[in-house]
Amino acid sequence: MNLRVRVSRDVFEKLEKIRLNMGNFERCGLLFGKIEEEQIEVIDLVEIRNVKESSSEFELDPLQSLKAFETAEKEDMEVIGVWHTHPIWIAYPSSRDKRGMENYPGVWIIISKNDIRAYYGDERGFSEVRMDTMEPLQ
Ligand SMILES: [Zn+2]
Repeated sequence: MNLRVRVSRDVFEKLEKIRLNMGNFERCGLLFGKIEEEQIEVIDLVEIRNVKESSSEFELDPLQSLKAFETAEKEDMEVIGVWHTHPIWIAYPSSRDKRGMENYPGVWIIISKNDIRAYYGDERGFSEVRMDTMEPLQ
């Protein structure tokens, strides 16, 4: 698999803002976009409450998640993955994250204090994927 993740300028700026405002608990949310063959486009992201209120794990608030799925559908996008922060660890999947990827296959963006990394994971495992910024169309 030779996946590429392309992130809109808007999403990149949002990710940067999150990186600079980590807080003490993990922050998390969903990624909206499109998957075509080996090209994944992340067009928008939404923040969802972390019901765990923990610095080392997250769980998306189920009601807010449901609403986000509805919003994505309305805007003709798919929920293609999740993002979350690691306020006290590097931007690499924890063992808990790896289990999460088995249940929620897709793009996982992990943000640490000094890094933003993208992974693609499913029940077969995960690998890091290159993340490029899409320039807005002229
Ligand atoms: Zn994590």
